[in-house]
Amino acid sequence: MAEVIDGKSVAGDVVGTVKTLTAELVAKGKAKPGLAVVIVGEDPASQVYVASKSRTAKECGFHSVQHTLPAETSEEALLKIIGDLNADPAINGILVQLPLPAHIDAGKIIQTIAPEKDVDGFHFINVGKLGTGELETAFVPCTPAGSMLLIERVRGKDLSGLNAVVVGRSNIVGKPMANLLLAANCTVTIAHSRTRDLPALARTADILVAAVGRPAMIRGDWVKPGATVIDVGINRIPAPEKGEGKSRLVGDVAYAEAAKAASAITPVPGGVGPMTIAMLMANTLASAYLAAGLKRPSF
Ligand code: NAP
Repeated sequence: MAEVIDGKSVAGDVVGTVKTLTAELVAKGKAKPGLAVVIVGEDPASQVYVASKSRTAKECGFHSVQHTLPAETSEEALLKIIGDLNADPAINGILVQLPLPAHIDAGKIIQTIAPEKDVDGFHFINVGKLGTGELETAFVPCTPAGSMLLIERVRGKDLSGLNAVVVGRSNIVGKPMANLLLAANCTVTIAHSRTRDLPALARTADILVAAVGRPAMIRGDWVKPGATVIDVGINRIPAPEKGEGKSRLVGDVAYAEAAKAASAITPVPGGVGPMTIAMLMANTLASAYLAAGLKRPSF
């Protein structure tokens, strides 16, 4: 059976390191890292994520600010808030929780965030830096950055010569994940809904990353024996066995089957999920170190 990659534990290590490095920064007489989280509207899932981000920021010793805005907030008002946060020296990271209400152009909002405070890594400048291998100064999107740390835990930092297959080509997960694997010297293939014979392609992967959003789509016989499997998917499915109306979370990988072939695999929940918030903290810390003229810590 595969080694289970414990994302909760690795995320705990990252948050612990962020806490220590925050204390060191403050001990040097520098300002503590500041993270501003902005949420528009009442989407319950978004509210849970945002509360968790603000809570972890406080746990890290950050200056933590939350703007909770009504769903009818105008684009202009939101742009003004982003502008103020861009100009505020106490803020190192700005995160606008997505999705935004339909009347707001999310792309315009994201591109208004100062690239050096774009701790989600969605600004074109950061996307471009990642794409050109400028990893020293890029902010990398948190979910692929966290997935990469999990891969490094089992495979080490140099992945030279390994075949990686990333299933999913979103700007948030699939594409940045592929760029990170390329930067680590993998031979990378990105698959998507138009890919032919995905099972055969998946079987070539020494590192298989699933970021699709389809419950248990990737079957055990798609996994090359000894592969590292990273399941980014988070899907809620009905769980009548837990009682009427109950549900549970599953990934994009049929876990029990895949664990028989893989050498290491992330569970859902408890794999990639906890890494996302941890990497947001790491990015905010990095932004504060850079703003203070210090070398950015690596994780
Ligand atoms: P997304 O934007 O919906 O992208 C899904 C990708 O999967 C698309 O590129 C799509 O291809 C591809 N796809 C869909 N059906 C396919 C199929 N049958 N065969 C092959 N490829 C297929 O999703 P996302 O934002 O990247 O998220 C993916 C999953 O990760 C979701 O479950 C999401 O909840 C989860 N997620 C988790 C975290 C975390 O913190 N752990 C963070 C973000 C996302 P096309 O481009 O051709 O349509």
